[in-house]
Amino acid sequence: MNLLHKKVAVLGCGRSGVAAARLATAHGAARVCIFDSNPAAVCSDSSLDFLPGAGEKEAREFAADLVVISPGIEANAPWSLAFTCAGAPIIGEVELAFRYYHGRVIAITGTNGKTTTTALVEHILTAAGKSAKACGNYGYPFCEVALASPQPEFAVLEISSFQLETVASFKPEVAVWLNFSPDHMDRYKTVEDYYHAKLRIFENMGKDQTAIIRVGEQLPTIKPNVIEFSAYAGSGTLRFEDGCIMQLANTVVDLNGTALQQAHNAENAMAAILACRAVGLNDTQIVPSLLNFEPPRHRCELVAEKEGVLWLNDSKSTNLHSTEAAIRSQTRPIILLIGGKDKGLDYTSMLPLMHGKVYLCIVFGQIAEQLENTFRTGIETLRVETVPQAVHAAAEHARIGDVVLFSPGTSSFDQFTSYAERGDCFCDAVRSLTSSSTNN
Ligand code: ADP
Repeated sequence: MNLLHKKVAVLGCGRSGVAAARLATAHGAARVCIFDSNPAAVCSDSSLDFLPGAGEKEAREFAADLVVISPGIEANAPWSLAFTCAGAPIIGEVELAFRYYHGRVIAITGTNGKTTTTALVEHILTAAGKSAKACGNYGYPFCEVALASPQPEFAVLEISSFQLETVASFKPEVAVWLNFSPDHMDRYKTVEDYYHAKLRIFENMGKDQTAIIRVGEQLPTIKPNVIEFSAYAGSGTLRFEDGCIMQLANTVVDLNGTALQQAHNAENAMAAILACRAVGLNDTQIVPSLLNFEPPRHRCELVAEKEGVLWLNDSKSTNLHSTEAAIRSQTRPIILLIGGKDKGLDYTSMLPLMHGKVYLCIVFGQIAEQLENTFRTGIETLRVETVPQAVHAAAEHARIGDVVLFSPGTSSFDQFTSYAERGDCFCDAVRSLTSSSTNN
């Protein structure tokens, strides 16, 4: 893509917007300006042209030749469309980076497990002596990786449905589809819209590329070569038995005692193995990295074992599918701490899975009342306001041999600025429990 003599409007002044503006500048665009509709927005790079509080008038006056949009902004919103008045196309930051990145792309999508799998693939490639950078939704913005000199051989790209909405020529060498379940119903009108946005990961791929897909995902026929995995189905190239990832009669890796031993993480490990094989690594290069991998925090993270009770922080669970996966992966009786912001999700479908595994639900936050009404018909349910109150209530009820699973199943923005802040709040409350506040 030739940006010489072109005016580029970058929408959104977050990290990816700043990286996109730098990349467009580095490739000779005649003018690059970052726009943000928030008058109080701040741009971290003072060398870039930046207009906070921009309205549709300013958008039209700029008369962009190319519009690069950040994933948090909707491309079909009137404000975004005002930038296209001179006929400019809108692309996302990922698409811009892809046009200037000359290495090999492994793209990872799914409703849950993207970050864990992305971090794991980067870990395996790096340990095998390859230059690789995790980027996209996790790690660096992809445009920063495209700006690097030299560029790394591999971009391990965590890509969300929001980022996939604005691709055009994007064509990864390997695409991983971990799983799909309803989410982001505050952004999408229907589940189909969310699904079709995600499907765009395969749009430009052909038979020379590889798609790694969980068994049972209901995908249309796609062009790339498909390899399947599942920790639950017992079919596919890789399956999970007694804590081991198996291929035919062979044990690929024994995950018992590793940070990936829970079934949902075994699926992430399978996807990572298949992705790394697809780019030419052998199992001798891959397996040691599975054994020493430390997943990012707030994902079924062990906080403490106090008086025979395990306390797990799964604050990154922001939809019911991830909470279901966390429940399914437990072998102990569960006290579930769940709640947060109203994202328009319906939790009724969780009840059959919870029966027999969760004996007490402690609900908190904006959706506490909705959850109480949903769960109390089948499971003892307590309603509290805050996360520390939920921890104290759990401590009063927990018995030796239980697991207290903090897996909120929705986003944190009713009471926190991020899932990480929410997870830290949970960890602090657990650590400050004295032995007298536990009841076993
Ligand atoms: P993402 O980047 O897609 O949000 P993460 O790796 O950050 O994924 O994990 C998000 C949540 O999903 C956490 O609660 C984690 O325990 C759970 N999770 C991780 N991997 C999987 C998986 N393969 N299937 C279902 N849930 C998962």
